[in-house]
Amino acid sequence: MGVAELHDLESGPALRERAEAVLRRLAGEHARLREDQWTAISALVSDRRRVLCVQRTGWGKSAVYFVATALLRAAGAGPTVIVSPLLALMRNQVEAAERAGIRAYTINSANLDDWDQVRAEVHAGAVDVLLISPERLNNPDFRDTVLPKLAASAGLLVIDEAHCVSDWGHDFRPDYRRLRTMLTELPPGTPVLATTATANGRVTADVADQLGKGVLVLRGQLGRDSLRLGVVTLPDAAHRLGWLADNLDRLPGSGIIYTLTVAAAGETTEFLRSRGYAATTYTGQAEDADRRQAEQDLLDNKVKALVATSALGMGFDKPDLGFVVHLGAPPSPIAYYQQVGRAGRAVESAEVVLLPGNEDQAIWRYFASLAFPPEDQVRRVLAVLDDAGRPMSLQALEPLVELRRSRLEMMLKVLDVDGAVRRVRGGWAYTGEPWAYDTERLVRVAEARTAEQRSMIAYATTGDCRMHFLRTALDDEESVPCGRCDNCTAPAFSPAVSLPALTAAASFLRRPGVVVEPRKQWPTGLAAAGLDLSGRIPPAEQAGPGRAIARLTDLGWGSRLREILDGPDAELPDDVCDALVEVLKDWARGADPWPARPVGVVALGSRRRPRLVSSTARRIAEIGRMPFLGTVEPIGAVSPPSGVNSAQRLKAVHGSLTVTPETAAADGPILLVDDLVDSGWTMTVAARELRRAGAGPVYPLTLASMG
Ligand SMILES: [Zn+2]
Repeated sequence: MGVAELHDLESGPALRERAEAVLRRLAGEHARLREDQWTAISALVSDRRRVLCVQRTGWGKSAVYFVATALLRAAGAGPTVIVSPLLALMRNQVEAAERAGIRAYTINSANLDDWDQVRAEVHAGAVDVLLISPERLNNPDFRDTVLPKLAASAGLLVIDEAHCVSDWGHDFRPDYRRLRTMLTELPPGTPVLATTATANGRVTADVADQLGKGVLVLRGQLGRDSLRLGVVTLPDAAHRLGWLADNLDRLPGSGIIYTLTVAAAGETTEFLRSRGYAATTYTGQAEDADRRQAEQDLLDNKVKALVATSALGMGFDKPDLGFVVHLGAPPSPIAYYQQVGRAGRAVESAEVVLLPGNEDQAIWRYFASLAFPPEDQVRRVLAVLDDAGRPMSLQALEPLVELRRSRLEMMLKVLDVDGAVRRVRGGWAYTGEPWAYDTERLVRVAEARTAEQRSMIAYATTGDCRMHFLRTALDDEESVPCGRCDNCTAPAFSPAVSLPALTAAASFLRRPGVVVEPRKQWPTGLAAAGLDLSGRIPPAEQAGPGRAIARLTDLGWGSRLREILDGPDAELPDDVCDALVEVLKDWARGADPWPARPVGVVALGSRRRPRLVSSTARRIAEIGRMPFLGTVEPIGAVSPPSGVNSAQRLKAVHGSLTVTPETAAADGPILLVDDLVDSGWTMTVAARELRRAGAGPVYPLTLASMG
């Protein structure tokens, strides 16, 4: 039904009274619309405007769009289309809406085939709200057949978590770019409501710009009176873990401890458990069911703390969350504000503590390196697709370009919306449309990121009100000093760490040794790269189980190992050699010992750090009284670039290693020594070559592993 056919709506007091009546059906007899909610509803319903609501979580945005939906539907408008990444979390609101007589329908991958039926029901006026996830917008069938009709019939478009539209934001999602197309396909006069809880001035302006002309921006105050912000600066990771063990019991209720990396989350949980706390881990690498269980344990107060990475994302809601502690600072005030804002929603007081780390900036740099690829890589992907002359799947494309799969997919989604490629059945196709690399914009985004990082460093050291600092960083003009933070009052927590806790943390972190799992399967896509390797690697050609001192992202040895691998090529330092010897002792006699004692040592020739790797292998041979058998030498000048995907790296490594008879001559297992295991393919190929040349079992031993 078009806008022209809509019945006249009452305006002013009569409309408001009907809005209040809908709200009472949704939220109970005592519910009243606040003025700012009414302003948004009235702009959508009476004025058919596009509205951007920047309001803190808990403000009541769902009341706004369900009330607006009821009023618009009563006036004959089409169904409301809600695009939200949080559909699973909206179950409660949707049930409440249905009790109030608003009929909702979710379109997901499981029921896409029912589209004809949905359309019939939409046509018959039996659907008030259609919920779709942003990923759906990029599905070829949905985009081509469903989306245009949906856009043409929508009575109201709601864009949840609208900051994801902006690449200025901290959480840009390429799927959201498709919304720009949808916005242009809406009939004139269709109201749009975009909502976000986390946007600074620049992101707000960018989102408003993408919504079109004449957008009404409603910005609320950001402050939350229950939060007591504080910063405790400590010299190293051992002090920070020790501090947690000393203070966790003093923090109210249960809460979240954020870490910057998956490895740090696991270590922190393990240490806290060893100190008698109920703690559990939540990371993006865990299985769905485990993540849901971890969330539930926190909701039920079965754990004192959930130790999480930023994967504990938007929408997690525990109104009585008592504290948020950060073990390491996130890279922007807006990300920090969003994470601490999970605390204290429905309690009078919640503690928020930042424990900044010396290694934070190195970790930020690592994550920043995963942003949109440089122009030559993008051009290469376009050229490969152009040459192919047919659609290519991600798997087929991967071996031919130097990008990890997730980054490749992100880039393709951006190029799709730009028109240079198109997602079709069977993969991605080149369109032939001219495409320009927006260098200027990407440079400005990178500069904005750097400024946010500087701002986060300043937060940790400021002597002014911390809440005022954060709100000002988020361009909240109403901000005043909070009177509650450690700078407004006195610090709530001492930086002192008890000797027992510090000793325990230090010995926990000093304990070297992580398992390096051997690769058992060749990656897909090698045939397209011209290699005749696929499926399972025969057991007789696999590497055996391996060990490293630590992962580069570990709290304990991570910083020291990064320092060595980032520094000039030099002999192995004594402290690291001692750690390696500890690892070997534990490997020989610990809980999970090697199957048989090694009888020789081989170095994996390194182009980047030959002295480090060779001195490591020789010292281990000497200390273990084993012969040093030589080096598996890399030939040719090409080194596989770091940060590339499996198939690409394997292609670069394959056939570039030489095994001499001496290196494969030992009568028993050998240790194969390298400085860093990244993808594991260099090690896998070297072990295979050694075994094919007659060597016994090959045990990888490295200083560090990635991830
Ligand atoms: Zn303050």
